[in-house]
Amino acid sequence: MKHKLQSLYLLQLLDTELDELRELRGDLPEAVNSMEERLRFVEQRIEECDTALKKGAVDRSTKEKESLELIAKIEKYRAQQLEVHNNKEYDALTREMEVAENTIATFEAEIEAYAEQSTQLKDSKVQFEKDRDELIKELEEKREELREILASTGQEESDLAVRREGALKEIDEDYFQMYTRIRGAKNGKAVAPIRRGSCSGCYNIVPPQRILEIKKNDRLFICEHCGRILVSEEIALETKR
Ligand SMILES: [Zn+2]
Repeated sequence: MKHKLQSLYLLQLLDTELDELRELRGDLPEAVNSMEERLRFVEQRIEECDTALKKGAVDRSTKEKESLELIAKIEKYRAQQLEVHNNKEYDALTREMEVAENTIATFEAEIEAYAEQSTQLKDSKVQFEKDRDELIKELEEKREELREILASTGQEESDLAVRREGALKEIDEDYFQMYTRIRGAKNGKAVAPIRRGSCSGCYNIVPPQRILEIKKNDRLFICEHCGRILVSEEIALETKR
């Protein structure tokens, strides 16, 4: 049992160090992630602008071509009108010409709308590209910052992680679950050694009779004030990280 208590305490020591290393990194990893996400979003917008611009240009040139064809048709109708033999044929050609002119007017309005849309899209694209360039610059700075921190703490962190795995093998699943639960509830500190007759987690005095029991290192005690796992001073002294 003593060995299990030592392993629990060792786990706490290692986790505390890991917590401190992670604190050094702070919210940098999250910041980098969210900037990468924003960058993807902005790049997607730029792509959408490009797609819409291309489609607009194609649609516009189709309408322009069709307008030219209609203009040619009108010219043809006008020439035919000079050669018709009666009013009925003349009126029929006039109606055809009116239809063609109306269609041309519709196309012209559409072409104008495409031009307007294209201007707006180009403006948006310029803005998005500016955002993108700023983001890329900012992101590179943050990544560099993170790289520097990882370079100085990475090895230490992976050593600690290996030792943590070793400590975990010595700990029963139910104890580990209890440890994890208390750690989550108590700001990262689940195991508290007795120090000067008090729980070192909450500084409340532990009754002398209880201290004697804890000293036996033969079962797991919980601080009745803070709910942390209490271990003897002896465990704390003997367990070196
Ligand atoms: Zn306590």
